[in-house]
Amino acid sequence: MKIPFLDLKQQYKSIKEEIDPAIQNVIDNTAFVLGKPVSDFEQEFAKAHNVNHCIGVSSGTDGNHLVLWTLGIGAGDEVIVPANTFIATAEGVTLCGAKPVFVDCCSDSYNIDPDKVEELINSKTKAIVAVHLYGQPVDMDALREIAKKHKIFLVEDAAQAHLSEYKGKKVGGLSDAASFSFYPGKNLGAYGEAGAVTTNDDELAKKFKMYREHGQSEKYHHETFGHNYRMEGIQGAVLGVKLKHLNEWTEKRRAVAKKYKDLLKGVGDIVLPTEMPYSKHVYHLFVIKTKWRDELQNYLNENDISNGLHYPIPLHLQNSYKQLGYKKGDFPNTEDLAFNCLSLPMFPELSEEQIDYVVKNIKDFYKRK
Ligand SMILES: *Cc1c(COP(=O)(O)O)cnc(C)c1O
Repeated sequence: MKIPFLDLKQQYKSIKEEIDPAIQNVIDNTAFVLGKPVSDFEQEFAKAHNVNHCIGVSSGTDGNHLVLWTLGIGAGDEVIVPANTFIATAEGVTLCGAKPVFVDCCSDSYNIDPDKVEELINSKTKAIVAVHLYGQPVDMDALREIAKKHKIFLVEDAAQAHLSEYKGKKVGGLSDAASFSFYPGKNLGAYGEAGAVTTNDDELAKKFKMYREHGQSEKYHHETFGHNYRMEGIQGAVLGVKLKHLNEWTEKRRAVAKKYKDLLKGVGDIVLPTEMPYSKHVYHLFVIKTKWRDELQNYLNENDISNGLHYPIPLHLQNSYKQLGYKKGDFPNTEDLAFNCLSLPMFPELSEEQIDYVVKNIKDFYKRK
């Protein structure tokens, strides 16, 4: 049996009857950039996350940048970001001309450790980026208190966390502003590049729209510098269709996670993901830890079970951030994860038979240990 890491073809087949006419409709109307499918999706996505405004953009990375740029972050400023995340979180800071300041993650949630944030704040610090990594929300109350005390911004990178909940509240409206990614492999994926930013602040929402489109308040009236961060019409149409299925897909991911957890409990030295008491985890990724990581990964590869590493090189050890002067040993929890993490196949359509096959192979591996 061959197990993919995710199966977008199967998902497309299940919604083909809705997707094809939605795309055709965009072509018939030649509404290729923004337009009604995008604004309809923006409204529905905001509603689904209980947040006042959603502004569709061209990618999650662009969303990361747009949020910080619009908040006025620039040269000479510092922004606190977790070392354990995808590079795009820090790129949002760097693209503003500001400096990312890294912080370690917690050993249980794998998210930014609020207890280590405050000591990094100085007069240059302008914001904290909370990344809801793997689909698990950050402990937002702790971070909000710190941000409030020091009068700095708190923003969310929710690229991996569509519909996840912190203390019963959806992510995306838990801070000054949030960004989402709709990269095809994300929990809600477009058929190309796309992203969104969300906020409860009316003024900020207006500014996001301006910055998304060359800083213009109306056509050819440019109030500020901006960029072209517009969402494509076809992506809006696809996302509008897929959003209707997202609740169901999310529950299926959670069921897959539960099954993995039941079957892998106590197997070898595996450390399973912890769902924190305050969180509704949406399992963008199912990340286990084992000191046999490389061997187990090879074994899964030999048996046609796709897997991944999220992430093998922490941001503070990336070549692109060498000039910041971090070294190995700076962030023990993040580094432990980098060396020992392994992501198992995780997608809503993963069948019981497929899960059983993955588990059987993992058990076979440990029998030989
Ligand atoms: C995927 C991802 C992004 C970037 O999104 P793109 O749409 O690929 O640009 C940003 N942050 C995190 C945490 C991500 O996982």
